[in-house]
Amino acid sequence: MRMYGALEAGGTKMVMAAFNSEGVMIEHAAVPTRTPEQTVPEMLAFFRRFPLSALGIGCFGPLNLNRTSATYGSITSTPKLAWRNFPILRTFRDALAIPVGFDTDVNGAALAEARLGAGRGAENCLYVTVGTGIGAGLVIHGRPVHGLIHPEMGHIPVRVRPDDPMPEGCCPYHGACLEGMAAGPAIEKRWNCSAKDLPQGHPAWDLESDYLAQLCATAMLFFSPEKIILGGGVMQQAFLFPMIREKTLALLNGYLCHPAVDGGLTDLIVPPGLGTASGITGAYLLAREEEGDRA
Ligand code: ADP
Ligand code: ZN
Repeated sequence: MRMYGALEAGGTKMVMAAFNSEGVMIEHAAVPTRTPEQTVPEMLAFFRRFPLSALGIGCFGPLNLNRTSATYGSITSTPKLAWRNFPILRTFRDALAIPVGFDTDVNGAALAEARLGAGRGAENCLYVTVGTGIGAGLVIHGRPVHGLIHPEMGHIPVRVRPDDPMPEGCCPYHGACLEGMAAGPAIEKRWNCSAKDLPQGHPAWDLESDYLAQLCATAMLFFSPEKIILGGGVMQQAFLFPMIREKTLALLNGYLCHPAVDGGLTDLIVPPGLGTASGITGAYLLAREEEGDRA
């Protein structure tokens, strides 16, 4: 039976897995993200234990996804300096001599959710992670969306609430963009408290759901997704879902006519169907795609 490698390359940790051709995860492991010199050999040691037909990488970005570019498959402007301009795809393809599929971590997760998770059956599906950063992957007609570069919806401008105690935000590039206002570190900086420990009913969550609703309403107006799947550490606070739906409806103010909207967005703004496995499953699907064999 053929086997496939999957790498979810994150700024904090690298998650590796081996899948069989039925999409069952056979083994997995994780190593902390240090420098490429330290971390790449550890990852290769894992993957070399399996007779892999292809590898898929869902990677933190921004990335060069332009196949005609000499630096296709590199990480570009990351604040993690050791990884800036690192040719991650080429490194694995040269070392393992197998086809390597490559996309952003969130496009990978969106692909997995669209094929196998909460977005099954949807033609147009947005996956958002709200964690250390905010990232979004968009799958339309079964394909992750690329373009000039790739979507970076975490950095859209938001309308800052007048009562926000941290109106300047904390994105190093934009200050008060969505990520600068609503990612885990923004919550923790604003309230000087771990996001995990802020109780339901704390004003943090009213503000948080407000900013995430701005993303949801914007996404609905831009792409008309059939599913908006919200994952990542912050969305472990499940009470955020009804708050976000309600505020999204308020922003749309009756403009979009569809039963899913009339139904309160309960089946439209949803948690990931694959739980925390969307990213690694997406990397597996990227391996299958690259081999030209759709799972
Ligand atoms: P990453 O984005 O690094 O892959 P996560 O998605 O777990 O990892 O995001 C980490 C961020 O999510 C942290 O800033 C943390 O504050 C926040 N977070 C993690 N778990 C929870 C939780 N249960 N409730 C609220 N926030 C959480
Ligand atoms: Zn930003």
